Amino acid sequence: MKLLPIVALLAAAAAQVQAQTQDAGTLINGMYPQLDAIYKDLHAHPEIAFHEERTAAKLAAEMRKIGFEVTEKVGKTGVVAIYKNGPGPMVLVRTELDGLPMDEKSGLPYASTNGAAHSCGHDVHMTAWLGAARTLVALKSQWKGTLMFIGQPAEETVAGAKAMLDDGLFKRFGKPDYAFALHSWPLAYGTIGYNSGAVSSNSDAIEITFKGRGGHGSAPDKALDPITIAARFVVDVQTVISREKDPKEFGVVTIGAINGGTVGNIIPDTVKVRGTIRSYSPAVREKILAGVRRVANASSAMADAPAPDVQLIPGGIAIDNNDALVTRTEGVLKKAFGDANVSRMPAMTASEDFSQYVNQGVPSMFFFTGVYDPKVVAEAEHGGKPVAFNHSPYYAPVPEPSIKTAAQAMTLAVLNVMSAPAAKP
Ligand SMILES: [Zn+2]
Ligand SMILES: [Zn+2]
Repeated sequence: MKLLPIVALLAAAAAQVQAQTQDAGTLINGMYPQLDAIYKDLHAHPEIAFHEERTAAKLAAEMRKIGFEVTEKVGKTGVVAIYKNGPGPMVLVRTELDGLPMDEKSGLPYASTNGAAHSCGHDVHMTAWLGAARTLVALKSQWKGTLMFIGQPAEETVAGAKAMLDDGLFKRFGKPDYAFALHSWPLAYGTIGYNSGAVSSNSDAIEITFKGRGGHGSAPDKALDPITIAARFVVDVQTVISREKDPKEFGVVTIGAINGGTVGNIIPDTVKVRGTIRSYSPAVREKILAGVRRVANASSAMADAPAPDVQLIPGGIAIDNNDALVTRTEGVLKKAFGDANVSRMPAMTASEDFSQYVNQGVPSMFFFTGVYDPKVVAEAEHGGKPVAFNHSPYYAPVPEPSIKTAAQAMTLAVLNVMSAPAAKP
């Protein structure tokens, strides 16, 4: 019977995941009081993009204590922590360091009061990152390879990943074989969501200046009115989405700012229009970019005005989760947390610069972990009080279960690609 050894191997693999889940859980429970103190300190002292000096120094010191070799100031304020444990794959685990420039209104006893806020949960990620690093080092007899734990600055401005890569992240420290990152999300704590393929959006900024010729409001024939040109553009550009894009594909154009003119009886020289474009697939992105440009030019041409100055500025590129790595990790997460708590979810429409590492050809997985009481989330889903979303001044993860789940999930995901194969039965 050929089947027997396969069945035995599968049973051994399942037993290994079970043992690792238990080991990681026990270790994380034991260190939680220290993680809690670190979390609350980070939460109370957020620093905005590229100003994360205190945050980076704290993480660097913690990682040195565990035995990582730490390099600071990679990509301005970034941290690179390396732990070598024999021959094997190199695995990158990223956390972000930055908070947002906004006031926190959560009312928590450890709320920030410095004009910045960790309202995207990057403090949860940092604490889970530390917890996973400590757990992996404690379990080092169970894996081989090199851990590359990075603290990335400026995720919120979609600039930090590029800054670290431009500063030689992969040239100086090696190119990883796999990369993982997690993001807290307004799901129930204890749950994990992810997807194969796109998990975040492409983002491009729109900056257009429509040119006219200023004049008196009572004599439009003596002027060339850029307000009507801009108004036509703002309306017509939505047909790129409703009439040109495949309706089954995601794509958004939002005009968020129109600036032109001073008072009612003066026709201005120019009008500035600013907006954002979001998409998942490269083909849809190209189609929308071309459409926006064409409608802008046509709006001016229709009024016999000079061609507008159209700037479409690339921002974040969609994160493309690696199919094989997702499938492999999914198996472990389902065994560890139960099928009901681990599920595929639609991509988010926000953008993330974790894609910078992915686009260097590193098979990667970006997943979401919940932060709110399951009862509160269920009530919100059934018409109750909505839960605060990321970037809300009221964003307030429940620390213990959120951090424990995130730390354990990350530990297991990394162990799974670094573990020596299960001992032969
Ligand atoms: Zn954010
Ligand atoms: Zn974020």
